[in-house]
Amino acid sequence: MNYTKGDRMQFEVVIGLEVHAQLNTKTKIFCSCPTSFGEEPNTNVCEVCLGLPGALPVLNKEVVKKAIALGTAINATIHQKSIFNRKNYFYPDLPKGYQISQFEIPIVEGGEIFIDFEDGSKKRIGVTRAHLEEDAGKNIHHGNVSHVDLNRAGTPLLEIVSEPDMRSSEEAVLYLKKLHAILRYLDISDANMQEGSFRCDANVSIRPKGDTKLYTRAEIKNLNSFKFIQKAIEYEVERQIEAWEDGVYDKEVVQETRLYDTEKNETRSMRGKEDSAEYRYFPDPDLLPVLVPDDMLAECIQIPELPDQKRDRFLKEYGIKEYDANVITSSVEMAHFYETMINEGAGAKNAVTWLTVELLARLNNGITLMTSPVNAIKLAMIVKRIEDGTISGKAAKEVLDYLMENHISVDEAVETLGLRQVSDDGAILEIIDAIIASNADKVAEYRSGKDKLFGFFVGQTMKESKGAANPAKVNELLKQRLDN
Ligand code: ADP
Ligand code: MG
Ligand code: ZN
Repeated sequence: MNYTKGDRMQFEVVIGLEVHAQLNTKTKIFCSCPTSFGEEPNTNVCEVCLGLPGALPVLNKEVVKKAIALGTAINATIHQKSIFNRKNYFYPDLPKGYQISQFEIPIVEGGEIFIDFEDGSKKRIGVTRAHLEEDAGKNIHHGNVSHVDLNRAGTPLLEIVSEPDMRSSEEAVLYLKKLHAILRYLDISDANMQEGSFRCDANVSIRPKGDTKLYTRAEIKNLNSFKFIQKAIEYEVERQIEAWEDGVYDKEVVQETRLYDTEKNETRSMRGKEDSAEYRYFPDPDLLPVLVPDDMLAECIQIPELPDQKRDRFLKEYGIKEYDANVITSSVEMAHFYETMINEGAGAKNAVTWLTVELLARLNNGITLMTSPVNAIKLAMIVKRIEDGTISGKAAKEVLDYLMENHISVDEAVETLGLRQVSDDGAILEIIDAIIASNADKVAEYRSGKDKLFGFFVGQTMKESKGAANPAKVNELLKQRLDN
């Protein structure tokens, strides 16, 4: 191609993602050891997860149900017959010398996830497959001693592999956030990145624009936050483009596994990439094919409302903005919080503002929507008190601040802070009449056409009421008095 050095626009970025989601079952995939996180090392283990000779795996039915739910959510084909294979490799955290995974026939194949851009447009990202497998243990390094903790060995994973359909780090993050939301809506994974129950490997390549073949990819591991995923991809794209520009692409960009170093913000070669042939996959003779009977399938495809459906319903039922509907449905916690507010009688649009602007801004120091001292019912009450004229929007912010620190009811806070608006006609008219009486000259000017003076009367009334008068009422009553 005619290549102008330094012109990034001549390249297209190609990204495919592999996500390992830990399924939130109580017990492991092939034994009854608990899956709980953060236990004393090597306490959640048995002969099956230790890989002792003669121990036989027994499939946990729950993992199959959860995989089917995901497949249903992404419009995939569910294979009612799938196979478990052995993927052979050696590593200290893998005592059997092989990982049980799925290869030729995964339980879920060929699905799609839609990502939403801020301008309202959408893009379809293909999902190649989702297969079940067991997690390995963990190697823990202290100085020059290494320990192996096998508590995690045998934890159920669903590996979700995308098509190489993403064209930027932003698209990759949107895809991951949508997949994350779907897993949480389905309640099949905690998808907690810090605890490692949602892990992502990013496959990245570049190619000259217009070219359709896939170029050599690097696979980046060790990505445990959306921010780092974005940065790691951006670094890797730059590295590959620079290699191209410097004429060393073939030498520098090879199929390999790279590790992202969060401190240096760079990716480094970890090892050459094995081809699948090197794993010597073969069907695990200890496990029968997985057969999903029709009645079980029928039960498992009954799934809850998903982010996209909920968004479309919110748009239709509540008439809120598309952007807001996307924000609110981006996490299941937020969507439930919002729906509770609506059910409690808060207005749809005010509920959006008070949830996504006011409350979210006040959540910090690890406080989440789930642990917020102001829950959905309380926040709905604040909104209702604005809507029924008890407090002004400005006063409501003070009430919310106060309730983040004090465990009392909304009405108690309004009283304690003395923020109740005066909406009672009699009290406001009393103030208005006094102001009219002592400003006869201004009243005359106003009546002879100086409309601007209306603001003066509003200001005086509000001031005299110490800000407590309901402004809408003040306007209405002033008009009544002055215009007659
Ligand atoms: P493996 O399991 O060995 O990593 P897969 O064939 O399952 O290999 O592919 C893994 C991921 O790599 C998939 O998400 C796929 O979309 C992506 N991928 C494959 N080729 C490329 C490429 N040239 N550039 C970017 N991503 C790619
Ligand atoms: Mg891979
Ligand atoms: Zn076990």
